[in-house]
Amino acid sequence: MKTAIWWIRRDVRLEHNAALAAALNNAERVVPVFVVDPELLASPYLSRQRFAFLIGGLRELDESLRKRGSRLVVRHGRPLPELSRIFRETGAESIYCEQDVSPYAQKRDRELLNSLPLKSVWGLSYLSPLRVRKPDDSPYTKFSAYRRTWLREAARRSTSVFKAPSRLPDIGGIPSDRLPDVRARDDSLFPPGEREAKRRLSDFSRRIHSYAELRNRLDLEGTSRLSPYFRFGNLSAQRAVSVAFDAIEDASGKGEMKGAETWLAELIWREFYISVLSHFPEARNRSFRGEGRFMHWRDDEDDFAAWCEGRTGYPAVDAGMRELSRTGFMHNRARMITASFLTKHLLIDWRRGERWFMQHLIDGDPAANNGGWQWTAGTGTDAAPYFRVFNPVLQGKRFDPDGRYVKRWLPELRDRPRASVHEPDRPIVSHTEARVRALRAFEEARKRARSSRRHESDRND
Ligand code: FAD
Repeated sequence: MKTAIWWIRRDVRLEHNAALAAALNNAERVVPVFVVDPELLASPYLSRQRFAFLIGGLRELDESLRKRGSRLVVRHGRPLPELSRIFRETGAESIYCEQDVSPYAQKRDRELLNSLPLKSVWGLSYLSPLRVRKPDDSPYTKFSAYRRTWLREAARRSTSVFKAPSRLPDIGGIPSDRLPDVRARDDSLFPPGEREAKRRLSDFSRRIHSYAELRNRLDLEGTSRLSPYFRFGNLSAQRAVSVAFDAIEDASGKGEMKGAETWLAELIWREFYISVLSHFPEARNRSFRGEGRFMHWRDDEDDFAAWCEGRTGYPAVDAGMRELSRTGFMHNRARMITASFLTKHLLIDWRRGERWFMQHLIDGDPAANNGGWQWTAGTGTDAAPYFRVFNPVLQGKRFDPDGRYVKRWLPELRDRPRASVHEPDRPIVSHTEARVRALRAFEEARKRARSSRRHESDRND
């Protein structure tokens, strides 16, 4: 009997799973395997809560597999020796997996390919990074151009979602370790698993038409809160995109249409950053734009600690940081406000903020997090201009007009009147002075970058 291994990494679902489908097409027996890699557990980017969310999703997947006559095989160890062992034990002929783009995953898979017949298929995003390219075949680095080509290519693709298989082959007596016994302190905000992902998407599809209007409001639930489920593939991009296209078709009036189109645009941002990281893995650790590499960051430790702990004195910043440490989530607008504050007001290297976010976010994702940080710091592919320094007081007033969001996370503000709820209280920097300092620092970095380019071209002449 022909056997294949389905190596699960961040595609913890049965519905529309391209790796599982390819394995089932090519073998009679498919063995679902998850390897608990100690290298990932030792990573400085690890978040315990995110790990617990992943494991919770795997637990549910195991139940779903058992209902269908199969089960999950778990092994603890480095992927190469563990998969080689299972390969021998099962007499498999190939290993199917969903391709991943993080530098770690790219390196791991390249090494594995030298020893094992690894067949990776695309499923991480709706369109593979190879499909959305410039006419000269190079990758896009500007979102608007990427989006145009993405929309053209997407129109050529079927949006149908293939269902979870109703039965799966029996895998026999292959031994399995236990999943790590980790559980989130409180998973009521993000219950793990594929079932919950689908429930949320279906709930959000009833609100999608008001997305454009509400998405920036810190005090309202205007967004889908699906990011953790995308992170571990509990939800396929295929299903999400098909919901967005249906909502565009069903929209009555311009407002509704804008809601659905704006949500689709956010899904395309996700695809864009996946594409950027797959083509430019070095962006994970260094500024994408040359100027960013010439920044002299202040990196003041006390300021960094105040930011992490939500003690900067600016309510919109502190509320965001406290939301993050308490829940493992932060509203997108608050991510922009806090990231801008760290890199511009405090002049702290975006990589430190990026790491802090990864250590806390349940949805912490190498591509989106890196993209979001570099965008805000002005060092990224298609970044906010360096002179755009978010004013945390005005941002708070605009996107949390009654102060409900800041009061939720900063109970000490409970009795503050609406008019002054966003005003800073003993701030660690003054907005006006910090803004001037940031503009000067970024301008100097640009000068250094220009002069370095001049020297470079003189040397080459
Ligand atoms: P919705 O508004 O409902 O959007 C739907 C989906 O689109 C999201 O679930 C997400 O998968 C995707 N998406 C939305 N906005 C973006 C974006 N700007 N970039 C890429 N994808 C997007 N997102 C992560 O998934 N993981 C991260 O680690 C992450 N780090 C970020 C760091 C910074 C500094 C910034 C500014 C943004 C970051 N984002 C990250 C993007 C965004 O904040 C979250 O995706 C969003 O807040 C998740 O909430 P939601 O699911 O309700 O999103």
